Amino acid sequence: MSKGYDVIIIGGGVIGCSVAHSLSERGHSVAVFEKGTISGEASKAAAGLLGVQAEWNEYDPLFELARKSRALFPKLAARLREKTGIDIAYEEKGIYRIAENEEEAKRLEHIMKWQLQTGEETHLLSGEQLREQEPELALHIISALYCPKDGHVIAPELTRALAHSAALSGTAIYEGTEVIEILQEQDRVTGVVTTEGTFSCSKVIVASGAWSTKLLQNFHSTWGTYPIMGEMVSVKSYKPLLKAPIFQDGFYVVPKRGGQYLIGATVKQHTYNKTVCAKSIAYLMERAFRLVPALQQAEWDTAWAGLRPQSNHGMPYMGEHPKVAGLYACAGHYRNGILLSPITGEYMADLIEGKHVQSLLETLLSKEEFV
Ligand code: FAD
Repeated sequence: MSKGYDVIIIGGGVIGCSVAHSLSERGHSVAVFEKGTISGEASKAAAGLLGVQAEWNEYDPLFELARKSRALFPKLAARLREKTGIDIAYEEKGIYRIAENEEEAKRLEHIMKWQLQTGEETHLLSGEQLREQEPELALHIISALYCPKDGHVIAPELTRALAHSAALSGTAIYEGTEVIEILQEQDRVTGVVTTEGTFSCSKVIVASGAWSTKLLQNFHSTWGTYPIMGEMVSVKSYKPLLKAPIFQDGFYVVPKRGGQYLIGATVKQHTYNKTVCAKSIAYLMERAFRLVPALQQAEWDTAWAGLRPQSNHGMPYMGEHPKVAGLYACAGHYRNGILLSPITGEYMADLIEGKHVQSLLETLLSKEEFV
């Protein structure tokens, strides 16, 4: 075997890099193996929304985790900027959930009641009140739920900063290196076989996004992830069009620094094909024009697609194998991996260190799931 590390992480997306950042800041010897480039897949494609209140309409165990994760961003952004010089453009100006008709407005009222019960701050705005804040929004929008604690970051910058931070704390980053096999002896992880040779370690974390199935099947035959492709459009405007993101049932327009507006995203199940369809661009643009008419005068920038990693169980896998010591899963964060990345890093680092981790995730990773 060649070099050895305490922990080997398979996958250099936001999840793998966040875990590497947390572990290396605590002094562990870590390596990240990435078959392509750091932040080359879903983590590069994301809009970077930190949309706890935008995304959750009712309670599930991930909601609590998401709230905790969102709360970590101000400190994380400052730490990454100080350590790496990379600005992840963290903004906490809230997100507006838009209603175009009475049915949607009623639904938003219902969601607001639930969110207030959970202690989240939300404000129901009339169309007029909304347009006082965001004058470019269309006149037919009848109301909005303003979620002031939600925000956004530049997703690829977050992953890049986490990787640099990890490297500055001693993590070895291997790009262009695919992990082919996880090695074990007597129910203990001993290393990995990669396209660049074999490396030893006592712990392996599978953080391979939508490509995790083959590796996750080491845990349980039914474990796996699959891709849910999403296409996104970017346009530019010198004229300010929005101060904060608008969100409507998975559709959003997100104002980024420098006059960039991200418009997304489509949802296409079970495909690894990242070709952007003309029809999808038309759909996204028409919907954006309806909500923000002045976007029609914006300058075309670019479009792309990425593969959200969904788990077979609908919840991320985060935990250790009960029978194979040192084998950990951390994949399947679907459409909220950017939001969930800081808490995931800290949670996995606690787990690796054998610290008590809050019981919250025991529901996500019940022991009965294993064979
Ligand atoms: P990835 O970023 O896909 O990283 C996995 C990495 O593992 C890849 O780089 C891959 O090359 C590597 N890999 C796989 N197999 C191997 C192997 N055998 N050996 C070595 N390397 C391997 N989330 C939010 O929170 N907010 C958003 O606004 C948001 N918007 C999104 C918009 C779009 C269009 C898309 C597609 C996603 C969006 N997401 C958003 C979701 C978010 O991008 C994902 O949840 C997150 O990036 C998943 O991170 P990951 O590290 O698990 O996966």
